[in-house]
Amino acid sequence: MAKISNIRSIRTRAAGTWVIVIVETDQPGLYGIGSASDHYHAKTVIAAVEAITPLLIGREASHIEDNWQTVYTSAYWRNGSIQNTALAAIDMALWDIKGKEAGMPVYQLLGGPVRAAVPCYAHASGDTLQELEDDVRRYHEEGYPVIRCQLGPYGGGGFLPADQAKRPKNAWPQKSAFDDEAYLENVPKMFAYLRDKLGFDLKFTHDVHEHLLPHNAVTLAKLLEPYRLYFLEDLLSPEQVGWYRHVRQQCTTPQAMGELFVNPHEWTPLITERLIDFVRVRVSKGGGITPCRKIATLCEWFGVHTAWQEGGDNDPVNQMAAVHLDMVSYSFGIQEENHFRENELEVFPGHALLEGGYLYPNEKPGLGMEIDEAKARALLNPDLAAKTFYMAEDRRADGTIVRP
Ligand SMILES: [Mg+2]
Repeated sequence: MAKISNIRSIRTRAAGTWVIVIVETDQPGLYGIGSASDHYHAKTVIAAVEAITPLLIGREASHIEDNWQTVYTSAYWRNGSIQNTALAAIDMALWDIKGKEAGMPVYQLLGGPVRAAVPCYAHASGDTLQELEDDVRRYHEEGYPVIRCQLGPYGGGGFLPADQAKRPKNAWPQKSAFDDEAYLENVPKMFAYLRDKLGFDLKFTHDVHEHLLPHNAVTLAKLLEPYRLYFLEDLLSPEQVGWYRHVRQQCTTPQAMGELFVNPHEWTPLITERLIDFVRVRVSKGGGITPCRKIATLCEWFGVHTAWQEGGDNDPVNQMAAVHLDMVSYSFGIQEENHFRENELEVFPGHALLEGGYLYPNEKPGLGMEIDEAKARALLNPDLAAKTFYMAEDRRADGTIVRP
């Protein structure tokens, strides 16, 4: 059996926001890769990986569960987003190594496939209803079984130009103001338009990105009930998930939640009380394949489904970890898509293939993909990589920040 001999991180993508961790072993040529990407904290995650490394050197790479449990409590405090991400990358790499040792894809080690491929949902958006309709038609024709519909950016439909909002005389500088009533007016109209133009054969989702006040969130879920969504995503902020009980009492609109979750106390009650229908933890933010496999199993007993988070800032390694879970989980619901540039995919030979709205893994051992380190480094733009990125700062008319 192989022992862990070294752990190191590589930053890639132009802005260096993708962090790929490589776990090396004392067996020649045997190593694994994992995703530790964090769009806002790349350097912090790398420091966390470095802090964990001495603890794991010399340990059995095959003892995945024990290594996970050991690292999980190694800094006493746990379930933080940074530490989870570092731990997840190592966990994915250890599954990659185990698969290579066994000569099997990870999805075979996890019990074997329960589906032929992984259906995905696409991100359609438009600043006008016509643009959105065109985008939805495009993805539908490409083959996507489910399509997310947004009016421009997150919160789109709810922004008033700053000069049209009722702002104080000493208003802080801001281009627009988020207004709950505008959102409650425009998003149901968006779905009324889409159902009128496209009928009820297409499956739609919508991402609220936690912009609404909780009581307005309940109202939106109720207003959207006639449009029969596949799910309504991030209706409430993580601080306000208790309101899901009120949503359940008011309507049958299916609920998806969890991309900001890092702690079992966040997802467990929502699953066991059947307050949501889809759990959307990002595999790396949940702590890797090991804990997310347990989430999928918990979901199965309670009739909840998985929709692991992907989206724009994630990398092909995290996506592949999600795909392996998707292939084996009876409780799988849908996978969020992710579009990568051609030169980004060239860094990861063996990456999952996205075709006609489905993701396909391959039959190679482990995760089934490699990292071309020379190409990874060549992608980096040092000026961009020196920058720190921050979430968009949306505010209400009086200046109060909207929690994303
Ligand atoms: Mg979301």
